[in-house]
Amino acid sequence: MAAVPKIRISSGRRDRRRAQTFPSPRLRNQIHCECGELVLPYHVCQNCGRYRGRKVMKVEEDY
Ligand SMILES: [Zn+2]
Repeated sequence: MAAVPKIRISSGRRDRRRAQTFPSPRLRNQIHCECGELVLPYHVCQNCGRYRGRKVMKVEEDY
């Protein structure tokens, strides 16, 4: 049996709750890479392949 809420959450309360993590929880915590790209923490930059200032991944770069 599915979990059924005892009390209905009003649309305003629901929307306020969702607004806390809008647009997406993953996009809220972003840092800038050395190349200027926005990257998620603890992730290798997809643009230049660097992680914390060190090159750790091969990326096709356009020169
Ligand atoms: Zn980068």
